[in-house]
Amino acid sequence: MSVALSERHGTQTRGPSWLVCGGCRAIVYAKKFTRALRVCAECGWHAPLTAHERLTMLLDPDSVHLLEAVVSDNDPLRFVDSRPYVERLREARAATGLDEAVVCARGRIDGNPVVVAAMDFRFMGGSLGAAVGEAITQAAEIALRERTPLLLVTASGGARMQEGVLSLMQMAKTSQALGQLDEAGILTLSLITDPTFGGVAASFATLADIIIAEPGARLGFAGQRVIAQTIRQTLPPGFQTAEFLVRHGVIDMIRPRAELRATLARLLTVGSRRSVSRTVPAPRSAGRSALIVDPDRLPERDQWESVRLARRLGRPTTLDYIALIIEDFNELHGDRMSADCPAMVCGLGCLEGVPVVVIGTQKGRTAAELSGRNYGMPSPAGYRKAARIMRLAAKIGLPVITLIDTAGAYPGIEAEKQGQAVAIAENLRLMAGLPVPVVAVVTGEGGSGGALALAFANRVLMCSNAVYSVISPEGCAAILWKDAAAGPKAAAALRVDARELLRSGVVDGVVPEPDGGAHSDHLLAAHALRDALTSTLAELLPRDQMTLVTGRRTRFRQFGAHTLTLLDADLDGADLDGADLDSAGPDSAGPGQKESA
Ligand SMILES: [Zn+2]
Repeated sequence: MSVALSERHGTQTRGPSWLVCGGCRAIVYAKKFTRALRVCAECGWHAPLTAHERLTMLLDPDSVHLLEAVVSDNDPLRFVDSRPYVERLREARAATGLDEAVVCARGRIDGNPVVVAAMDFRFMGGSLGAAVGEAITQAAEIALRERTPLLLVTASGGARMQEGVLSLMQMAKTSQALGQLDEAGILTLSLITDPTFGGVAASFATLADIIIAEPGARLGFAGQRVIAQTIRQTLPPGFQTAEFLVRHGVIDMIRPRAELRATLARLLTVGSRRSVSRTVPAPRSAGRSALIVDPDRLPERDQWESVRLARRLGRPTTLDYIALIIEDFNELHGDRMSADCPAMVCGLGCLEGVPVVVIGTQKGRTAAELSGRNYGMPSPAGYRKAARIMRLAAKIGLPVITLIDTAGAYPGIEAEKQGQAVAIAENLRLMAGLPVPVVAVVTGEGGSGGALALAFANRVLMCSNAVYSVISPEGCAAILWKDAAAGPKAAAALRVDARELLRSGVVDGVVPEPDGGAHSDHLLAAHALRDALTSTLAELLPRDQMTLVTGRRTRFRQFGAHTLTLLDADLDGADLDGADLDSAGPDSAGPGQKESA
């Protein structure tokens, strides 16, 4: 397999000045091709790079400090196929000038320190032998010791068969090394280059916090020939390419070679723990309170009117707010399991210089975007993507901001099959224990469990024209009034607007909207949101993990706390040993059960 791949990816030379593109077969001028980082201007094909070319391309000039490897010969099986393994090794060394299929270095990307391990496919197809596994592991251990982010650049056909099962063990060893970086809160990045398969794909390549791929790069566990022969089916076009994988939630993003340095620099700046300052951003709302906390400062309004306002299509979406107030935003995609939900937007960026994680539902405004984003109703994959990014925030110590504008979680057959209820429940439990500040803002519609799944926060805010409700007024009307047209009556009864929710303590503060409403002036609306977030974060950032978690749990523990007291026999000191426990059966729950909506 490795031979076939290397042939396919070789760029044949036709004299010293001209090359044949391995993608479109166009004849390209060699110097121009090299200047374009070996990317074909005609078809965008990314030619393979050697490990040294990769390090030169990614790291700041003069920052590269190679970690020299001392390799001892390793041939545990005295393996011989058509030729002895040692002979193949010798040949690979002579051909590449490398000791092994990976080169490790310390360096900087736009000033951000990083430890890099870059694989080289020319060396026996980048196969994962013991020495390669050892190099990756030791690079991870250096990153751990120095608390520096780790970047892995992968290119591999899989395990190195010539080393037998010891090669397989490298998957376990490297995975454990990445796990230790997770425990220590050190950011890990992987850059997937073509091809990355087998044992490398099923260990360190996909365990990184953020997975970036070059366009067209293929990543998978089993090779296409093996799959086709096993299942005897035609594989879909683009199968296992980066484009296929980002759609199926496996990788975070695709970046052309020319953008890799800038992307990595942004991610390292925002995501490396040493850049997280606990310095408090200064709210810009000079003299004006960023938040309304007194319900009497809000006008008394018809609830149905509020619902209509909250649903206005012209209101800023999550991506609008991000574009206006979050700097250096990098969107991250996928739940690493099944899909990338377009109704959920997640990423890293900076708010007034403070690194943050932003997660929000995205509705869209045009018919095409609304339909493409499923009208802002997330699938289970959306909630699982949000959970993945929240765990990343917890790992690297970044505050979480959630922006909520959704009619609710998507109700559909596929969503139920994939466990919509489980996805929401797991988010609630996860958010309850996040050791970082969490601020949620209902910016439009806060619909039911699908909204709450992003709103288990230390501070829950809402925009002044937003609504937040257990069920849509129409849904409530259909169930309780047996008439969907009774929506206005239901809205009034449910009390869904900012004034009512501030009064009940479900929200802590209200973000003032411009006089005509957020839709009338996006910039003004975004600046009000920015000021509300910065002043709220200023209060939360100095708090330690325990205080944040306890505060969040206490906040949600109190809802309905006065409604019931269980009499605990032991605590009351009464002797109820042998009491008939059956008497406290389900019937005694009484008639007050809320109908599930
Ligand atoms: Zn081409």
